[in-house]
Amino acid sequence: MSVATTLPGCDAPQAQSAAKPVLRERGQREVFCGLTGIVWLHRKMQDAFFLVVGSRTCAHLLQSAAGVMIFAEPRFATAIMEERDLAGMVDAQDELDRVVTRLLERRPDIKTLFLVGSCPSEVIKLDLAKAAERLGAQYMPRVRILNYSGSGIETTFTQGEDACLAALVPVMPAEAEAAPKQLLMVGALPDIVEDQFLRLLGQLGIEHVGVLPARNARDLPPVGPNTRYILAQPFLSDTAMALEGRGATRINALFPFGAEGTSDWLRAIGREFGIDSAHVEAVIAPGRERAARAIEHSKAALQGKRVTFLPDSQLEVPLARFLHTELGMDPVEVGTPYLHASHCADEVALLPETTRISEGQHVDNQLDRVRSDKPDLIVCGLGLANPLEAEGFTTKWAIELVFSPIHGFDQAGDLAELFARPMRRRDRLEV
Ligand code: SF4
Repeated sequence: MSVATTLPGCDAPQAQSAAKPVLRERGQREVFCGLTGIVWLHRKMQDAFFLVVGSRTCAHLLQSAAGVMIFAEPRFATAIMEERDLAGMVDAQDELDRVVTRLLERRPDIKTLFLVGSCPSEVIKLDLAKAAERLGAQYMPRVRILNYSGSGIETTFTQGEDACLAALVPVMPAEAEAAPKQLLMVGALPDIVEDQFLRLLGQLGIEHVGVLPARNARDLPPVGPNTRYILAQPFLSDTAMALEGRGATRINALFPFGAEGTSDWLRAIGREFGIDSAHVEAVIAPGRERAARAIEHSKAALQGKRVTFLPDSQLEVPLARFLHTELGMDPVEVGTPYLHASHCADEVALLPETTRISEGQHVDNQLDRVRSDKPDLIVCGLGLANPLEAEGFTTKWAIELVFSPIHGFDQAGDLAELFARPMRRRDRLEV
């Protein structure tokens, strides 16, 4: 095994939407794998290190997706499995111990080390849970060592974050027995967006808010039966299950995209914590008005236009709801890799009756439907965008929505603009 410093590089429970029929697809897929999540997770968790146990392909994927940090010590790397590892000629666990020991001796700043599984490590059945346990016993309390899978076998790229956060839940401290009701905000958000939410929650009167993932290992929030958690991302079903396993209860709300989604998200928290609704409205009003004004700028380009989402980021359902309810777009098909029925029920209910909802992926079938529907805008993965543009369609890269700050009131205008820009570009080209 050798180490290459890099950053990232292929179905969740079947869900039922009570109100609307869901077309289920199984076939060839065109998505990035869960290693991609390292790109944003390593920026968020400032004393964590992600060691991918994978191949040169994994190393190249990370490197091209995240770039190489020249001035800073990197916080991700790939332990590349060589042919003799794959052929079983050496004990891969011993090799991994050697790599981890070298890394931790050289980097005293690392407080949490994630061993991240990949397709090759899963194919040879390298037990990273066992490795994390063995190495954890050796390095605790200085370093916490955890593991999760970012492999491309049966995953889509945002599942990397879900798997990583779910791995953190068992090591969250238990809340004190008599602890008052405590709010936990779940999902990796850019620091600026997280700070905006914490400020708004402070204005509501909720001061002590736990955040998962925490920026530093020492701030990992407590969890228990008095924890009320709210998801900021729709793709965290394993994390949600793990939190509920520790007694926490989910606050149901729309996801905080746009003026309406963000208002609903904050109102649901206010209700759960018994905050006077007039006070909640007073806190929300300025941001809500700012967001509504900012969105207006993009309306001319989007209103009345037909949009199709091909399954990619798992953000599809709440974003389609935002485009429909706040910008007047007509979602023709909303395809998502996994439809988390209970987490997205309110979102689905706000889509028009005519919207086709599909779960899973079958690229050929979906492209056939796109050609027959002829939407004005297609939100899709990188691999499909260029061929669709060549056929005369207007596209938006779904992955850009994951890498851009799009949550909350102050990002609503930018979120709308991300969809409006390709429409205006197309109009300019047509003139
Ligand atoms: S984990 Fe699998 S899909 Fe992802 S880069 Fe490595 S080999 Fe490719």
